[in-house]
Amino acid sequence: MSSVSDNGPQMPPLTPKRKANKPPRATTTQRGYGSRHQRIRAAFLRLHPICQRCGGAWAKELHHRDRNTANTSAANLEALCTACHQKEHKGAIA
Ligand SMILES: [Zn+2]
Ligand SMILES: [Zn+2]
Repeated sequence: MSSVSDNGPQMPPLTPKRKANKPPRATTTQRGYGSRHQRIRAAFLRLHPICQRCGGAWAKELHHRDRNTANTSAANLEALCTACHQKEHKGAIA
Protein backbone atom coordinates (compact mmCIF):
# COMPACT_ATOMS: atom_id res chain seq x y z
CA MET A 1 0.00 0.00 0.00
CA SER A 2 1.43 3.20 -0.93
CA SER A 3 -0.21 6.54 -0.60
CA VAL A 4 0.82 9.21 -2.96
CA SER A 5 0.15 12.60 -1.74
CA ASP A 6 -0.50 14.97 -4.54
CA ASN A 7 1.57 17.84 -3.45
CA GLY A 8 1.62 20.05 -6.53
CA PRO A 9 2.79 23.56 -6.61
CA GLN A 10 0.57 25.81 -4.68
CA MET A 11 -1.18 28.51 -6.64
CA PRO A 12 -0.87 31.92 -5.14
CA PRO A 13 -4.21 33.46 -4.37
CA LEU A 14 -5.43 35.72 -7.07
CA THR A 15 -4.97 39.30 -6.08
CA PRO A 16 -7.78 41.57 -7.14
CA LYS A 17 -6.70 44.17 -9.64
CA ARG A 18 -6.25 47.47 -8.04
CA LYS A 19 -8.57 50.09 -9.39
CA ALA A 20 -6.91 53.14 -10.78
CA ASN A 21 -7.71 55.56 -8.07
CA LYS A 22 -7.21 58.97 -9.59
CA PRO A 23 -7.09 61.78 -7.12
CA PRO A 24 -9.46 64.63 -7.92
CA ARG A 25 -7.74 67.19 -10.05
CA ALA A 26 -7.22 70.64 -8.72
CA THR A 27 -9.26 73.21 -10.54
CA THR A 28 -7.39 75.35 -12.99
CA THR A 29 -9.39 78.44 -12.13
CA GLN A 30 -6.84 79.32 -9.50
CA ARG A 31 -4.14 79.34 -12.14
CA GLY A 32 -3.61 81.76 -14.96
CA TYR A 33 -5.10 85.12 -14.18
CA GLY A 34 -4.41 86.08 -10.62
CA SER A 35 -7.07 87.13 -8.21
CA ARG A 36 -5.88 90.69 -8.68
CA HIS A 37 -6.81 90.60 -12.34
CA GLN A 38 -10.17 89.03 -11.55
CA ARG A 39 -10.90 91.82 -9.08
CA ILE A 40 -10.01 94.46 -11.64
CA ARG A 41 -12.14 92.73 -14.25
CA ALA A 42 -15.11 92.47 -11.89
CA ALA A 43 -14.78 96.10 -10.84
CA PHE A 44 -14.48 97.31 -14.43
CA LEU A 45 -17.46 95.31 -15.61
CA ARG A 46 -19.45 96.71 -12.70
CA LEU A 47 -18.54 100.20 -13.86
CA HIS A 48 -19.38 99.33 -17.45
CA PRO A 49 -22.12 96.70 -17.38
CA ILE A 50 -23.05 97.35 -21.01
CA CYS A 51 -20.78 96.54 -23.95
CA GLN A 52 -18.82 99.68 -24.77
CA ARG A 53 -18.74 98.82 -28.45
CA CYS A 54 -22.27 97.87 -29.46
CA GLY A 55 -24.07 99.16 -26.37
CA GLY A 56 -26.73 96.54 -26.88
CA ALA A 57 -25.50 93.63 -24.80
CA TRP A 58 -24.16 92.95 -21.36
CA ALA A 59 -20.43 93.33 -21.15
CA LYS A 60 -19.08 89.97 -20.16
CA GLU A 61 -15.42 90.28 -21.01
CA LEU A 62 -12.55 92.58 -20.42
CA HIS A 63 -10.62 93.58 -23.49
CA HIS A 64 -7.11 94.96 -23.40
CA ARG A 65 -6.70 97.49 -26.16
CA ASP A 66 -2.96 96.92 -26.43
CA ARG A 67 -3.44 93.13 -26.13
CA ASN A 68 -1.24 93.19 -23.06
CA THR A 69 -3.20 91.53 -20.28
CA ALA A 70 -0.68 92.83 -17.76
CA ASN A 71 -1.64 96.38 -18.58
CA THR A 72 -4.73 96.86 -16.47
CA SER A 73 -4.86 100.63 -16.53
CA ALA A 74 -8.37 101.91 -17.17
CA ALA A 75 -7.29 103.49 -20.46
CA ASN A 76 -6.28 100.09 -21.75
CA LEU A 77 -9.46 98.31 -20.75
CA GLU A 78 -12.69 97.94 -22.63
CA ALA A 79 -15.81 96.17 -21.43
CA LEU A 80 -17.14 94.07 -24.29
CA CYS A 81 -19.84 91.54 -24.86
CA THR A 82 -18.69 88.14 -26.00
CA ALA A 83 -19.65 88.77 -29.63
CA CYS A 84 -17.80 92.06 -29.85
CA HIS A 85 -14.80 90.63 -28.10
CA GLN A 86 -14.60 87.70 -30.47
CA LYS A 87 -15.02 90.04 -33.43
CA GLU A 88 -12.20 92.16 -32.08
CA HIS A 89 -9.87 89.20 -31.85
CA LYS A 90 -11.34 87.34 -34.84
CA GLY A 91 -11.73 84.17 -32.82
CA ALA A 92 -8.57 84.15 -30.77
CA ILE A 93 -9.18 85.83 -27.46
CA ALA A 94 -6.28 87.20 -25.50
ZN1 LIG B 1 -20.94 94.25 -27.96
ZN1 LIG C 1 -9.57 91.18 -25.76
